[in-house]
Amino acid sequence: MTETPHDWTDAGFATRAIHAGQDPDAATGAVVPPIYQVSTYKQDGVGGLRGGYEYSRSGNPTRHALEQALAAAEGGTRGFAFASGLAAEDTLLRAVLRPGDHLVIPDDAYGGSYRLIARVLGPWGVDHTPVDLSDLDAVAAAIEPGRTKVVWVETPTNPLLGVSDVAAISALARAAGAVLAVDNTFATPYLQQPLSLGADVVVHSTTKYIGGHSDVVGGALVVAEGAQLPVGLVGPTGTSDLADAVAFHQNASGAVAGPFDAWLTLRGLRTLAVRMDRHCANAEAVVRFLSSHPAVREVIYPGLPEHRDHEVAARQMRAFGGMVAFRVESKEAALAVCERTRVFTLAESLGGVESLVEHPGLMTHASVAGSALEVPDDLVRLSVGIEDVADLVADLGQALA
Ligand SMILES: *Cc1c(COP(=O)(O)O)cnc(C)c1O
Repeated sequence: MTETPHDWTDAGFATRAIHAGQDPDAATGAVVPPIYQVSTYKQDGVGGLRGGYEYSRSGNPTRHALEQALAAAEGGTRGFAFASGLAAEDTLLRAVLRPGDHLVIPDDAYGGSYRLIARVLGPWGVDHTPVDLSDLDAVAAAIEPGRTKVVWVETPTNPLLGVSDVAAISALARAAGAVLAVDNTFATPYLQQPLSLGADVVVHSTTKYIGGHSDVVGGALVVAEGAQLPVGLVGPTGTSDLADAVAFHQNASGAVAGPFDAWLTLRGLRTLAVRMDRHCANAEAVVRFLSSHPAVREVIYPGLPEHRDHEVAARQMRAFGGMVAFRVESKEAALAVCERTRVFTLAESLGGVESLVEHPGLMTHASVAGSALEVPDDLVRLSVGIEDVADLVADLGQALA
């Protein structure tokens, strides 16, 4: 007995995250999608596929559940799950760019995205210009009509938490016939919905908040309804449909999420809304504490009225997220804070339930040292977790003392 899948389109965010793509298993009634740890599927006669499944690089029921849930969470038409955030980015960029093309990227892009664009795609003939995406005139000036095929937005950025106006940049990208891709890793679909602001595709490192427990590496793409390839490009399936091209490349390059990773990521997505509420509340308390501490020169958080991009952030985001950066007196002082915390663990990455601290200059952003994307060496970055906030504040207090 099969039940018709319920349409969750009009449900609220948390309801979609918990139910979309996750109807009880047709065969057993299992309430959550099981881990289909399988590579191939019996055919009922040649080409007689059950549910369309043939081979797990092309499609797997556990991954498919995650892909549908991600698409519903972002309000997009199709979701695609990958082995990592960078695998998702690589697949997208190879689907939309050709040698000779150009893309505009944030001047404080995630270091791994920058390395992929500059050092992998660069030698294949793809050119890029880093710009301050908060400066719309600079974005407009960096777009070369006819040559710029992608505008890459990350908002908030890592680690300096710059916020850019997705709706305004989408108008600039659209006028140039370029695809607007938004890396929504820091905000998550709970805090910000780039597709509703005009983005063509959302990119995620699901390793971070969506997975949420520092136990799985993964990535995702969600394509907007009706999104097209850059003007003039016909994809490998003979259409200019962006989702078709991404689907082709996902299967052709094969950097897919495995069933267990997809299952863990989907388990994380179900609790994203409640976790983000706590991440944001804890981050706000940490920001209040740091702002009044004499050893802290500057606190960088989009929720602060004095933050350069506060107005855009307040308009575009539900709340301001769990990432906080701050500057102290010197590089030595920054390293000392990173090495003295006990509740905050010294580690790269972000977005897990546990709080993390790091020195971007020597850790996550070491690969951009000496480039336009270099970050100040007195900067400390926090991924504020969901522990009791009094313990987080006390820990930072003793580390700064
Ligand atoms: C971590 C991260 C990525 C890369 O994702 P991986 O899962 O590590 O490959 C991309 N963008 C942002 C903003 C990230 O934080």
